[in-house]
Amino acid sequence: SALLSGTNVVRNYGATPALRGVDLAVDEGEIVAVTGPSGCGKSTLLHCLAGILRPDAGTVTYRDQNIGLWSEAARSRLRRTDFGVLFQFGQLVPELTAVENVALPLLLAGSGRREARSVAAEWLDRLGVAELAEQRPGAMSGGQQQRCATARALVTQPRVLFADEPTGALDVLTGEQVLGEIVRVARELGTAVVLVTHAASVAAYADREIVLRDGVLDPTGLGLGVAR
Ligand code: ADP
Ligand code: ADP
Repeated sequence: SALLSGTNVVRNYGATPALRGVDLAVDEGEIVAVTGPSGCGKSTLLHCLAGILRPDAGTVTYRDQNIGLWSEAARSRLRRTDFGVLFQFGQLVPELTAVENVALPLLLAGSGRREARSVAAEWLDRLGVAELAEQRPGAMSGGQQQRCATARALVTQPRVLFADEPTGALDVLTGEQVLGEIVRVARELGTAVVLVTHAASVAAYADREIVLRDGVLDPTGLGLGVAR
């Protein structure tokens, strides 16, 4: 069975329907782009799949467990151990250096300080920003910050990376470079990726694209042009 799946996922914000019954299955190591116009429910779907939001109806299943039924504490633990999350911008802690930011998830997982710092430094190197280890986010470019945020999202070697417009705040060229790095490292790790985007150049990195329109899957599947 799929690593992660949503079945008939429904989610409303008060009276506003955001998802009206969406099905999606993601296999181990698979990179799936979720596209569609602004407001169609992409972020809400990502938040439901990542266990950040609970669906109002339908199920979200991870490794055969219905995580939509889990407590907030259990979902939070799952996010620390099995999932990585990457958002558009501004997710690094401004008071901490790059290496301290990347070490955080390891410290939360119980690693010792020296070990966490050393592994974090390796991950900065892997994303091509080793020289930024002692810099704070305010001193970095947007692309550098997203490389650090990527190192932080992947440092625990999650099974699934949830990326919500991860390059949306970057210029096109920088965004493509950073996305190339995200995808390269995810493939090296065998990490599945749920990639929310409205950009064709970003969707093109995915194995598969699903298109949302107004809270449902677009039956035509006509998206941004991932090879089908
Ligand atoms: P997308 O990511 O495709 O832009 P969203 O999932 O953010 O779409 O939003 C889907 C719909 O839900 C939109 O109509 C949006 O305005 C609404 N929405 C999203 N988040 C909230 C919220 N916190 N409160 C109320 N409405 C929301
Ligand atoms: P995106 O389209 O990139 O998903 P949005 O600008 O739609 O981003 O949403 C940014 C944040 O605002 C999200 O946390 C979302 O949940 C919230 N949000 C979106 N729409 C609404 C809304 N109508 N009312 C309240 N919060 C909203």
